[in-house]
Amino acid sequence: MTKAIQDTKNKKLGIALVGLGYYATEQLAPALLSTEHCYLSGIVTGTDNKTSSWKENYNIPDQHIYSYDNFDDIKYNADIDIVYITLPNHLHAEYTIKAFEAGKHVICEKPMAITVSDCDKMIAASKKAGRHLSIGYRLQFDPYHLEIMRLGTGGIHGKIDAMKRGFGFIATPDQWRLKREYAGGGPLMDLGIYAIQGMCYMSGMEPIAVTAKEGNKTDLERFKEVEESISWQFEFANGVYGTGFSSYNEEINFLRAETAAGIIELSPAFNYSDLAGSSPSGKIHFPKVNQQALQMDAIALCIKKGIRSIVPGEMGKRDVHYLQAIYRAMETGERIVL
Ligand code: NAD
Repeated sequence: MTKAIQDTKNKKLGIALVGLGYYATEQLAPALLSTEHCYLSGIVTGTDNKTSSWKENYNIPDQHIYSYDNFDDIKYNADIDIVYITLPNHLHAEYTIKAFEAGKHVICEKPMAITVSDCDKMIAASKKAGRHLSIGYRLQFDPYHLEIMRLGTGGIHGKIDAMKRGFGFIATPDQWRLKREYAGGGPLMDLGIYAIQGMCYMSGMEPIAVTAKEGNKTDLERFKEVEESISWQFEFANGVYGTGFSSYNEEINFLRAETAAGIIELSPAFNYSDLAGSSPSGKIHFPKVNQQALQMDAIALCIKKGIRSIVPGEMGKRDVHYLQAIYRAMETGERIVL
């Protein structure tokens, strides 16, 4: 084993956060204070006045602070192993590819990109660089979601007959999430993706066809460019249906599956903490965890061990394919075969 590989296996991996908005500031950076296999070693920002508080709070040296103009210099920084992209969706592909060109591993936030062809380019760049690409699917590391995966895929309460999920919040005006160019779509891209993920990992199946319908617009100004809400229905093998709903104008947050023995449910299902649920065996309850710390540690450990994470780029691409198919079903009114 070369010395470089040995060092990577032993040390904590350095993560640089790219795009210091809500998610990086309020969730990821604080989570990196409690991680075992990785730590916050750098930042990339276009806003100079953000840097002093980050330097102070996280002890980041000046030479580990980058702008979008000198992003490529990150390749000379041996203390940055992983670049974590928390930019608006339209920039995910560009900065993921740049990070691979700089020889870094990448965690990219969901949705992986706006188009499947961008996902293909990101995966190709990862392969060319020989570096790992994972998507920020935090719920796959949460004990409540691990439990519904166990119950569902293990058939613990019998076969799943139907699944239902709803996720929505009230989106404030004037943000990139409401601009098609930046977000790629509306609540489906941002929130519906959790429902898609959850149906797949709970059932252990992939959908074979989809129909979809846009909800009525009650605010034509705010939702000028994207849907206000959308519902869709996935068909799975064995006659199983999965109904999803996502909205930017309604607070809703649950998942449910009907099984032979009764209902498995989480409500709230998609929050960062304080989830709650039940199954035919009784209440589902787990102690509080930090989803982001678990997610980043698990991905860092896979990089150290040289194994694929459970949330690889290929899964991100699969989900973008489903998102696009749902929009196509909505626009055409047709049943789209996946
Ligand atoms: P945000 O608007 O709070 O932050 C985005 C950051 O990108 C800001 O610091 C902004 O200055 C910067 N930026 C750089 N170039 C920009 C440009 N051209 N236009 C606009 N902003 C630009 O957004 P956020 O809520 O932190 O979301 C960022 C990403 O993280 C999104 O892809 C979102 O889907 C994802 N996210 C994931 C979770 C999760 O639970 N996994 C939660 C929130 C957000």
